[in-house]
Amino acid sequence: MTYQELKAEENQYVMNTYGRFPIALDHGEGATLWDVEGRRYIDLASGIGVCSVGYNNPAVVSAITEQAKKLMHASNLFTTAPMVQVARTLVTKTGMGKVFFANSGAEANEGAIKLARKYSFDRYGAGRNKIVTLLNSFHGRTVTTLTATGQEKFHNYFFPFTEGFGYARAGDMMSVEAEVDDSTCAILIELVQGEGGVLPLDPAFVKAVEELCRKRDLLLMIDEVQTGVGRTGSLFCFQQYGVHPDVVTMAKGLGGGVPIGAVMAAKTCCDVLGPGTHATTFGGTPLVCASAGAVLSIVADDDFLQGVRDKGEYLKQQILAIGSPDIHGVRGLGLMLGIIVDDGRHSEFANKLIENGVLAITAGKNAVRLLPPLTISYPEMDEALAVMKQVFKPQ
Ligand code: PLP
Repeated sequence: MTYQELKAEENQYVMNTYGRFPIALDHGEGATLWDVEGRRYIDLASGIGVCSVGYNNPAVVSAITEQAKKLMHASNLFTTAPMVQVARTLVTKTGMGKVFFANSGAEANEGAIKLARKYSFDRYGAGRNKIVTLLNSFHGRTVTTLTATGQEKFHNYFFPFTEGFGYARAGDMMSVEAEVDDSTCAILIELVQGEGGVLPLDPAFVKAVEELCRKRDLLLMIDEVQTGVGRTGSLFCFQQYGVHPDVVTMAKGLGGGVPIGAVMAAKTCCDVLGPGTHATTFGGTPLVCASAGAVLSIVADDDFLQGVRDKGEYLKQQILAIGSPDIHGVRGLGLMLGIIVDDGRHSEFANKLIENGVLAITAGKNAVRLLPPLTISYPEMDEALAVMKQVFKPQ
C-alpha cells in the first residue's frame, strides 16, 4: 500500500489523536529506516527514544525470537526468569533496591505516585499525600500523570483531576520550598525536561531538592522515562547528577522497541508496595523482559556509555559548526539533544529534515529534538549532518 492509501484507511479507522508526520514507516536497520515507498531516512528520533539499540538489532531480535518460542506471557501470578534477570541488572548497576514492572512511562509514574503515598501513609498516617512536580514537566497522559505534568496546555478538557499535586519552578528553590508543606510526601522531577524542550536541570538545584527531601522525609522521585537507559550518556541520568533518588521510573529505551515501564525504588522504600497493593496483568512479561535484557547487555557497559557521550558531543559540535543563523544553540546531555531555533519554527525545521531524509522530532516551543538510536554510527551521523547543512543554511 502507498502512503496515500494507508493514510486514507487510517483516517477512516484510527482515532485522530496524533499530528503525524506524512510518511508511513516500513522497516529499519541500525539507525536507518525505510518508508513504504522505499525512501530512506537516517533516524534521529528512534520512535521517541524507544529503539535505543537500533533496528533489527541481532541481540534484541534473537532474544525476542527465542523467548517467543518458549513463553511470551505468564502473568504476575508466576515467577519468570527474564524479569528477575532485568531487575537484578538494574539493581546491581545502580545500587537501588528493587523493581516493579509496568507497561509504559505513564504507568511507571502512576506506580511511583502510589509508592510515595503509601510510604508516607505507613509512616505518618493519612493526609500526607501531596506530590510536588515542576512546571514545564511531562509525566504522562493518564489522568493522574497528566495532573503531575506541569503544563496547562495538556490539562484542557480533562478536569476534574486527581488531588494532591503542586507545581514549582525548575531551578528555583524558593518556589519548591513554597510548594512543600506538611501534606507533601514526594518531589517528582525529570533531570532533563524532555517534552518541555530538552532542558537539563541545574545540578546545584537538583542537589538542593535532594537535601530538602532528606530534611523533610520526602521521597525524591526521578522520572527517567526519557533520560534513562543510557540516553544521556550514563545508564541513568541521576548517576551523573550525583544524587541518590528514592524512586526512579523508566520506560522508552528499556525495551528497545517493545512496551515496558518500570519503577525502581531504593532499599529504604522498595518494600512499601506489598502483595495486593499494586499490580498489572502485562507488566514485565517474559517477552518484553527478554528484549530489555538484551538492551541492557549492550547499554549497561562503561565503554558503550562513553561512546554515547562521545557521539552526543560530536553531533552537538558539528551542528554548531554549521554556523547557521537559524540555530541559536544546542542543549541536552548525551544523545538527548535539542537544536534551538526561533520560537514556533521547530516543526517547520523538523518537517524540512524529514522531507530531506532525516527523522527528527520537536519539543517545547523551540527545540528540534534529537533522540537517535544510541548505536547510531558515525557515517549515519555524518549523513544526517549533511542534510542538516542543507536545511539550516550556513551564514
Ligand atoms: N515521562 C517522561 C519524562 C516522558 O518523556 C514520557 C513520554 O514522553 C512519559 C513520562 C510518558 O511515557 P509513556 O508515553 O510511555 O506513557
